[in-house]
Amino acid sequence: MIKRILVANRGEIAVRIIRACRELDIETVAVYAKNDCESLHVKLADISVCIGSNKLSDSYLNIPRIITTAKLYNCDAIHPGYGFLSENSRFSQVCESSNIIFIGPKAKLIDLMGNKSSAREMMAKANVPIVPGTSVIETFDEGLKESKRIGFPVLIKASAGGGGKGMRIAEDENNFQKAYNTAKQEALNAFGDDRVYIEKLIEKPRHVEFQILADQHGNVIHLGERDCSIQRNHQKVIEESPSKIIDDQLREEMGSIAVQAAQTIGYTNAGTIEFLLDKNKKFYFIEMNTRIQVEHPVTEMITGIDLIKEQILIANGINREYSQEKIKFSGHAIECRVNAEDPSNNFVPSPGKVTIVNLPGGNGIRIDSFIYNGYLISPIYDSMITKIIVHGDNRQEAINKMKGALGEMTIEGIKLNTSFLFEIMEDKNFVNSNYDTSFIEKFLINRGDQNDW
Ligand code: ADP
Ligand code: ADP
Ligand code: MG
Repeated sequence: MIKRILVANRGEIAVRIIRACRELDIETVAVYAKNDCESLHVKLADISVCIGSNKLSDSYLNIPRIITTAKLYNCDAIHPGYGFLSENSRFSQVCESSNIIFIGPKAKLIDLMGNKSSAREMMAKANVPIVPGTSVIETFDEGLKESKRIGFPVLIKASAGGGGKGMRIAEDENNFQKAYNTAKQEALNAFGDDRVYIEKLIEKPRHVEFQILADQHGNVIHLGERDCSIQRNHQKVIEESPSKIIDDQLREEMGSIAVQAAQTIGYTNAGTIEFLLDKNKKFYFIEMNTRIQVEHPVTEMITGIDLIKEQILIANGINREYSQEKIKFSGHAIECRVNAEDPSNNFVPSPGKVTIVNLPGGNGIRIDSFIYNGYLISPIYDSMITKIIVHGDNRQEAINKMKGALGEMTIEGIKLNTSFLFEIMEDKNFVNSNYDTSFIEKFLINRGDQNDW
């Protein structure tokens, strides 16, 4: 059995993993960057080791230092969380060759799904519907020719993409060149890889993804969907489960396709298959995330299953004896990402010292956070500082709980997006589930926001 886990991450997800380990009687080793010594994960882990300066390449992205620390402190496994090294196949590979369990899939699978263009090809072979589009585009001329064939508007996407980066819309032939160049440049800057592919732009889509669990004994199940259509710059802001636009029949259909996709590639551990749904509820695969996701708690709230514990037990080789029939969904869960940012000033990050922290609580209200009174939020890392997750009997009750929680939350010293989230909870179209992925964009226009979001 795994006895000690190194947590190769920071922030709320590192805290979340440490808590799950405690429940399983597993010891934890936290690693941290020098400037991050006051971070909560450092205080909560059994052992904490400073591994470098505040440069990411010296700390949370430094594979040799993380592996050396794991060896030095006799860790049997490493949990990568999300972001950082979580989808780095070399990291998974180095763990394996160092006799350390990587809590996630094998390197080969991370590679296979990490390149979004080759993932599309794999999925098409597995009879999963994909968005009409191309494989990697070699030249500008080829891109233009293919876009004409697919039909404008198209989306130019980074093969190595993630976090909504490296994606540009070309409305027509005239702005194809600009969109193509910008997408390539952004992909190179963000991922060190400028390869792009092209997809038809699905009009007014909803983002609906399926959570998968697959153990090492061939048992694969899905835990239902998450609707993540409330996005800004292609990044999720609010997520919920179940999706208002999915009925039992469609859930069954999409869920079994997601399971079949995972089985076809021989996937193990937790993973997410992301789909877009068009106006006619036709669904198309967009990508697979081979890691735990930010929004995993909404699934935990409606299924009662602890996904981090499942990840650890799967990685330990335990037969989880999953069966789809045993999965029961109850009520409705919503997550809001609370970010240190200023919604009245183009959402610019607002790092700094938090002077007063008063987090909400109550029945069915879960707070995944790492901030406390006097904590200094660093500008170096992601601006998401807290997740509020609520669980109600139905969607309206969950919305009401979320409004209550957002209202109760007091964090002073920095700017937050809480009132922006509150306004969304009150919006008629949100309440009626009458929206698509452009909801926030329209919301900002309607309230007369002149910003260039
Ligand atoms: P989720 O799909 O879990 O909602 P997000 O897209 O919000 O994930 O990403 C979670 C975190 O991981 C964010 O901090 C994001 O910037 C980062 N991230 C996601 N994919 C990548 C990637 N391919 N490369 C670098 N960072 C990434
Ligand atoms: P990332 O790897 O950055 O998460 P995804 O491929 O998952 O990128 O897409 C992120 C978001 O971008 C989607 O949830 C959706 O809102 C939008 N998007 C992606 N592909 C398309 C498409 N073909 N048509 C319309 N919107 C898209
Ligand atoms: Mg995605």
